[in-house]
Amino acid sequence: LTPVPSDIEISRAQIPKPVNQLAEEVGLLPEELEAYGRNKAKVRLSLLDRLHTQPDGKYVLVAGITPTPLGEGKSTVTIGLVQALSAHLKLNSFACLRQPSQGPTFGVKGGAAGGGYAQVIPMEEFNLHLTGDIHAITAANNLVAAAIDARMLHEATQSDKALFNRLVPSVNGVRRFSPIQISRLRRLGFNKTDPASLTPQEVSTFVRLDLDPSTITWQRVVDTNDRFLRKITVGQASTEKGQIRETGFDIAVASEIMAILALADSLEDMRNRLARMVVGTSRAGQPVTTEDLGVSGALTVLMKDAIKPTLMQTLEGTPVFVHAGPFANIAHGNSSVLADKLALKLVGRDGFVVTEAGFGADIGMEKFFNIKCRASGLRPNVVVLVATVRALKMHGGGPNVSAGAPLPKEYIDENLSLVAGGCHSNLRKQIQIAHLFGVPVVVALNVFKTDTQAEIEHVCQIAKECGASDAVPCHHWAQGGRGSLELAQAVNEAANRPGNFQFLYDIEMPIAEKIRTIAQKVYGADDIELSPTAKDKIDYYNQQGYGLLPICMAKTHLSLSHMPDKKGAPTGFVLPIRDVRASIGAGFIYPLVGTMSTMPGLPTRPCFYDIDLDPVTEEITGLF
Ligand code: ADP
Repeated sequence: LTPVPSDIEISRAQIPKPVNQLAEEVGLLPEELEAYGRNKAKVRLSLLDRLHTQPDGKYVLVAGITPTPLGEGKSTVTIGLVQALSAHLKLNSFACLRQPSQGPTFGVKGGAAGGGYAQVIPMEEFNLHLTGDIHAITAANNLVAAAIDARMLHEATQSDKALFNRLVPSVNGVRRFSPIQISRLRRLGFNKTDPASLTPQEVSTFVRLDLDPSTITWQRVVDTNDRFLRKITVGQASTEKGQIRETGFDIAVASEIMAILALADSLEDMRNRLARMVVGTSRAGQPVTTEDLGVSGALTVLMKDAIKPTLMQTLEGTPVFVHAGPFANIAHGNSSVLADKLALKLVGRDGFVVTEAGFGADIGMEKFFNIKCRASGLRPNVVVLVATVRALKMHGGGPNVSAGAPLPKEYIDENLSLVAGGCHSNLRKQIQIAHLFGVPVVVALNVFKTDTQAEIEHVCQIAKECGASDAVPCHHWAQGGRGSLELAQAVNEAANRPGNFQFLYDIEMPIAEKIRTIAQKVYGADDIELSPTAKDKIDYYNQQGYGLLPICMAKTHLSLSHMPDKKGAPTGFVLPIRDVRASIGAGFIYPLVGTMSTMPGLPTRPCFYDIDLDPVTEEITGLF
């Protein structure tokens, strides 16, 4: 329709096929499906065993140029592309998308189910609750937080003997260690299984985690943009006997458990990662883990359903897995390894799985390759780099615009020199970054109605001159899959070229060298500057044996540099590393370039102002 109706109107006008029918079409057996209502279902991991001899399909990553407030449209391109591959080229295809946080849905950005005629439906189910995975993560995360504070209270108020008697209770006159306690004893180097054989010194070491409160990095989480929880004080009731400390809340998707969900490749792997999470350091300087707290088994129980990807569909009935959505600031911002693996088996050798990386290619794609592909062992065939004329104009020197403000005329009228400026700076650099990994790039120009023919042709021509295998305009937002046919053909062609994938850095390199490699080769920095804190942390992580982990940079997504205002492709800067932290369970070290907020706030007029429900029809209004 012209004009294109609102996202929710389009979503509601299409009745999704029943999820059982969709599952049958993609080759799932009824026993591999756990339906959640009529439109979505979780898929059991046993599918991987059944199809383990089946060859994988082609693996496509959708990334973007450096984001601007004008929006690029990676999700719509992802959905438009699978719609085109499937309905128009008749190739099996699957999209793998992240589950959105409720924070942006009610805050500034709105939903993340795509838009126009390239959407996942029903979009309200996609954007709200889905199958409860984020709720499970919240429950698991906060169980760890409760375990930490309760343990510190008990250790502070009880003798070694009282602690031991409670931690290893006598049942019918016999004390026995639980398996999780035996695991702790082994890590302490005590090869004993009889509780009576521990010396008093060993009893003391065993029962006291002796967490130094000032080192606790574990925070509570909630999936709401609740800025007043950024810093809180806990333990103020008299029952907590003065065990008061300052801590804070993060948005739920920033929990390390979300990053683990996205990187785990089996239930066992998830269990091991949940056990390895470090929550703080003991007064003796040793890391204290969730396994030490005795909580990792319970966490796995809370997460046992969340590990299964959720099957949904696009407006044109193409299958979609929605699974995981780690915060792209401090984690890797990619959907799950398991969803990609299941989808690659389901589509078969000639099929396509299209997945999406958050932020610009310098962040989302770099982490997709160096962290996610390292964890999964999967190798992508093609990168689709999304650009828009308006965002390229901003990179080419166009005026700054804040989200929602009226567009200056540069973004409405034809302006070939601004377009060329953006192509020769940011687009060229992002193409070069993908080539560092040896993967061919197809540029997808997401066309807005203000774009002129000359601007569109200009972008496609320069993109090819910059080394893209192909560059094509996409009209999926206004036309659905039909509008992305040219992109689907270009991707199909590029995917059949021989690949030459390589990682950017050798995992054995020292931590600082890995950071320097990303800064210089990906961001274009001259060098890095490590603060004294960053240096100390790197030494500590090396000492603890964490030096062999990949790097997950926590840098602004608004520029290739650390300075959000510097658009295009900045040069001549030194990247300051303020601090270095680690997510040991997820399996990466994350250097902080500047300050990263892990709890967004609400604006004066949040999206929730427009959201309502008709009590008679139960229709939701105002979601977009
Ligand atoms: P990203 O994944 O890069 O954050 P999305 O694909 O979610 O971006 O798109 C962001 C918003 O922009 C959505 O509301 C979408 O409907 C809108 N949008 C995307 N492409 C177009 C387009 N070509 N024309 C108009 N609006 C668009």
